[in-house]
Amino acid sequence: MSEGGLGNARGAGVDNVVDVAIVGGGLAGIAAALRLAEYGLSVHLFEAKSRLGGRTGSFSGPESGGLEKTIDYCQHVAMKCNTAMQELISVLGQEEGWRPQDTLHFYGPEGKYAPLSQLPLPAPLHIGHWLWRWPGLRVHDRLAIARGMLKIYRLDPSSAELDQISGYDWLKKVGQTQNAIQRFWATIIVSALGEECHRVSLAAVAKVLQDGFMKRRDAFHLLVPERPLNELLNVQARDKLNSLGVDCQMSSPVSRIAREEEGFVVAAKGKEVRAHQVVLALPWYRLTKLQFDLPQSELDVVDKIVAQSTKLESSPITGIHTWWDRPWIDKPHAVIVGRLCQWVFPGPSEGVESSAGEYYYQIVVSASRDLPKADELAGQLVDDLAAVFPAVSDARLLRHRVVTDPKAVFSVGVGTQELRPEAKTGVQGLWVAGDWTQTGWPATMEGAVRSGFLVATSIRGESK
Ligand SMILES: Cc1cc2nc3c(=O)[nH]c(=O)nc-3n(C[C@H](O)[C@H](O)[C@H](O)COP(=O)(O)OP(=O)(O)OC[C@H]3O[C@@H](n4cnc5c(N)ncnc54)[C@H](O)[C@@H]3O)c2cc1C
Repeated sequence: MSEGGLGNARGAGVDNVVDVAIVGGGLAGIAAALRLAEYGLSVHLFEAKSRLGGRTGSFSGPESGGLEKTIDYCQHVAMKCNTAMQELISVLGQEEGWRPQDTLHFYGPEGKYAPLSQLPLPAPLHIGHWLWRWPGLRVHDRLAIARGMLKIYRLDPSSAELDQISGYDWLKKVGQTQNAIQRFWATIIVSALGEECHRVSLAAVAKVLQDGFMKRRDAFHLLVPERPLNELLNVQARDKLNSLGVDCQMSSPVSRIAREEEGFVVAAKGKEVRAHQVVLALPWYRLTKLQFDLPQSELDVVDKIVAQSTKLESSPITGIHTWWDRPWIDKPHAVIVGRLCQWVFPGPSEGVESSAGEYYYQIVVSASRDLPKADELAGQLVDDLAAVFPAVSDARLLRHRVVTDPKAVFSVGVGTQELRPEAKTGVQGLWVAGDWTQTGWPATMEGAVRSGFLVATSIRGESK
């Protein structure tokens, strides 16, 4: 196929040699594998766990609190501005598996309900009325936010300068009140970036506000999985990859990558594969676990990427799985302003009532560093929800399970951009992918899928 030797190795009849080995079967690895296989390259994907999907996963059986159904460790939602994610959904034939929701159901700290959708006006005027309807704000908060949004609209999120400025400091500088920060800016920033206002960079704030709300009329619409993530992004993704000839090697943590002639040997538990190209689609905190046997000049390049990855901080997200004796909300989700509980999702998606006559709700708390311990949390949770939803006062919390991923996302803090590597590492044939690489996006499914597609396109570009 190519001058550079990137042909279909299976076609060339060479045993155990592939065009591309992918290390990591999260969304980045899946997206890269799908694209590369579509381009006609032979792909071997190594995944450490027994399933694909990485940070998107589900549990079932006794673990799920007696429910027969499968429950996601943590609710994931995409937005309509997530174009790469929608492409992945389309490639996997899952348009029916992700339900669009075009209204955001906001609740103020004292329960004021404000459903927010768009006006028939061009963006960004289509959400202008949100400023007056957003719950929990006073008039001068709203005026300050209007001024802040106009300034945000004119910023360039890709500017290195913005990445050096703290989002919180900037909000204060442009006259945002404490109430506006807590009840408006934090509601959006913490949900969308998975990080607290005083930790994020202005570049990340501008990115999420512009792309998520201001550029396209439907950008803020949600895409909520209708089926468990395990079914969508493990079982179905694997079926699709298999149908394209991708060899998915599960329960195979890669431990070593060594240079061999023009390619590499990738060594995992009980398996070695030779590959012309290698894509490292691991999270930022896993690179240090790999051993690289490379010539010194290449090792220097890899060492620098690994060293930078260790400087990225992580931010936790918690999914609190709760079972109640009766239902207390009739909306497809709730965004709660200015409270401990940030999002509520009824589920599983077929309806809130489980077979045992119990009602399941998942409560999501992003940047959940300061959550109290599970027992204390239950009391706080009920008080918090009762202040917003009157029906909670009559309901009984039967049981709950707290699932925190302490490294759910990388923290999009000040100065993060320069720590995120480009897909092309500088070592011939070695690539990196993952939500934390240079995609311009925060840690999201969108960022991960984008990075996977980008690597695949770049590999094809180089092989022409
Ligand atoms: C609790 C929680 C809630 C979230 N909510 C949202 C949301 O609502 N919307 C959204 O867009 N994003 C959300 N995210 C973020 C999103 O899940 C991630 O950004 C995305 O899934 C990252 O994909 P990835 O492929 O880059 O990395 P990962 O999913 O981490 O995939 C990396 C894979 O590499 C594997 N691996 C590691 N070491 C090795 C090895 N040595 N050999 C082989 N394989 C290895 C891992 O097992 C893993 O499967 C959330 C994340 C969490 C944890």
